Amino acid sequence: MLNGKLDIVVVFGSNVFNDKIMKERLPKETYKSFQKTIEGGATMSADVANVVANAMKDWAIEKGATHYTHWFQPLTGQTAEKHDSFISPTADGGVIMEFSGKQLIKGEPDASSFPSGGLRTTFEARGYTAWDCTSPAFLKEDSAGNVTLCIPTAFCSYTGETLDKKTPLLRSMAAISKQSMRVLRVLGNKTSKRVYPTVGPEQEYFLIDKKFYEDRLDLIVCGRTLFGAPAPKGQELEDQYFGSIKDRVSKFMRDLDLELWKMGVSAKTKHNEVAPAQFEMAPVFSSANIAADHNQLVMETMRKVALRHDLVCLLHEKPYAGINGSGKHNNWSLSTDDGMNLLEPGDTPHDNEQFLLFLAALITAVDRHADKLRTGAATPGNDHRLGANEAPPAIVSIFMGDELTGILESIAKGKIGTSKGQHFIEMGIDTMPSLPKDNTDRNRTSPFAFTGNKFEFRTVGSSASISGPNTVLNTIVAEALDEIATRLEKTKEKDLNKEAQAIVRDAMKKHGRVIFNGNNYSEDWLKEAKKRGLPNIRSTVDALATMANESALKLFEKYKVLTRGELLSRYEIYLEHYAKCINIEALAAIDMTRKLFQPAVMKYASTLAKNISQLKAVAVKTPVQKDILTQISELLESAHENLGALEAALKKAQGIHHAKERAEAFRDKVAVAMKKLRDDIDSLEMLVPRDLWPVPSYADMLFKL
Ligand code: ADP
Ligand code: MG
Repeated sequence: MLNGKLDIVVVFGSNVFNDKIMKERLPKETYKSFQKTIEGGATMSADVANVVANAMKDWAIEKGATHYTHWFQPLTGQTAEKHDSFISPTADGGVIMEFSGKQLIKGEPDASSFPSGGLRTTFEARGYTAWDCTSPAFLKEDSAGNVTLCIPTAFCSYTGETLDKKTPLLRSMAAISKQSMRVLRVLGNKTSKRVYPTVGPEQEYFLIDKKFYEDRLDLIVCGRTLFGAPAPKGQELEDQYFGSIKDRVSKFMRDLDLELWKMGVSAKTKHNEVAPAQFEMAPVFSSANIAADHNQLVMETMRKVALRHDLVCLLHEKPYAGINGSGKHNNWSLSTDDGMNLLEPGDTPHDNEQFLLFLAALITAVDRHADKLRTGAATPGNDHRLGANEAPPAIVSIFMGDELTGILESIAKGKIGTSKGQHFIEMGIDTMPSLPKDNTDRNRTSPFAFTGNKFEFRTVGSSASISGPNTVLNTIVAEALDEIATRLEKTKEKDLNKEAQAIVRDAMKKHGRVIFNGNNYSEDWLKEAKKRGLPNIRSTVDALATMANESALKLFEKYKVLTRGELLSRYEIYLEHYAKCINIEALAAIDMTRKLFQPAVMKYASTLAKNISQLKAVAVKTPVQKDILTQISELLESAHENLGALEAALKKAQGIHHAKERAEAFRDKVAVAMKKLRDDIDSLEMLVPRDLWPVPSYADMLFKL
């Protein structure tokens, strides 16, 4: 703070061991050699590692750190950390603060309690964490006053198989860089050295007053309400989106920004979202692995900071029925190390040739592997969102905008320059057309929308790690670019332009069906998509099944992103995760029904019964009391039956050993039984006096912030 004002320039990145700090603190030679490693060139020598570790330790200690941790991202989708202090005992009974290059580069946490899907038996419990030096180390502070040096790492088993979300992401980044570079080189680019995917994830979330949260077991253990009659008002007045931000929320957001800025997360945009008590934060985009690390920090910091304000941050995809859920719009593009956005239409026909080729790769990849993209975004929470009418459908299609689609279609027909008679296309002699620079068309309903210089993948759920979806995206595009590069490399230089056009034409002919510029929420699109043969994978369980397809196994193996074993183990882990989530939900629903709702309803029933007999004694008629009593008794009975059915379905599902069959039983039987029970309980909520209803209402949770 300066004169009570926040100096953001000073605060930003103050807890990051960033390039500026390294330049200041590392000997020139060490700095240079370390930069080479970061840029993907050289492996790091032990000497360099020791010097970097020491500088990192001194910096961290000056900032108050006592501990360091290898910060990693296991398959739980969360982050994991085990803290070690820097202390090392000395002979005279004291300690010195130590941190070696070896400790920086490699850790050996006990991995036995992380999901491994059969890749590692428990007697080989060791796991390894390895430093990802392309993502900077940073300090995490907590309100207890602890400062910890966090070293972003990848996590693998004793035998070298990946056990985390980061490793495949890094591998997919290497794959797409290699294939993109091949394309760029044939097109005459001699300056760029690497290509990396850029990602800007917009994070949606809900806030709820902590006192209401604590009274809801469903929110506490499942992150979503399993019961709750709708409030009289939802989001229909459209008065929340971009509305003025309440002071309490604004205080939270300010704190959040500050904490994120310190850690070098470039929190940029904040606003009210569509649903009541729903908000969004978007950072400035960065390289995909850093974006993934930062998004984990964003989610964690949101949760932490909310508590300081007696709020709870809900990241679940659908905390409340009947109003919008939360997603994570994953903005994605490709950038060269020398700063060129490969999805930016250029000024010259030559640039456009390149742009259209990368576009052709995207169209090919998304159409060919729509199932994998859908799977990358499949989580139990997201099942409540995809296909509901406020979120992109489970059908993956591309929005391209009418102008661009027109151009692509005319290229497909071999007639450049006549797209719907529009004037923006200039004919080159035998080159690609000029393109409209500002693609301002907006389509909010598409799962995969081109927004002028990047794609926005909107299917991703709000609580998910973005590593998975981006791993898929990078890999499928790498494959398409590989094919394009191979074609171009076989072509004589003078024919390159013709071949480039042929590539775009072929991509459109074969895969143009994936482009859809209309309303993705409409019933007509469902029919149309079916006609076009686009997959509509409605549930996580079905989506996950595609992971074990030969097509997926071959693809991820070919580009060295995941071996068969690694992919199949992930399939198993995610199926189990799905079943476990629904299991927890069912247990919570049963608990709440037996311990909260049934007793509350019975209490009211007996009050009514007493009232009826008291009034009868003085010869007063009681039609209203009787009517209500009959209604609640009937509902209570129905709820009890449905509770029994849920318990039976749950028991049966729990007894199934085959992972996929168990997950299917949880989806088709347990989740369905839960919904039936909910219907009765929600109807009862509308009949029981507010002071007798044992949990906060939707109106409490959504409108009392
Ligand atoms: P909107 O809600 O209108 O889509 P936002 O400003 O909320 O826009 O979010 C847009 C996101 O897209 C930001 O995170 C931004 O940094 C990101 N973005 C912009 N350009 C690129 C790019 N070339 N690659 C990846 N992400 C990008
Ligand atoms: Mg936004």
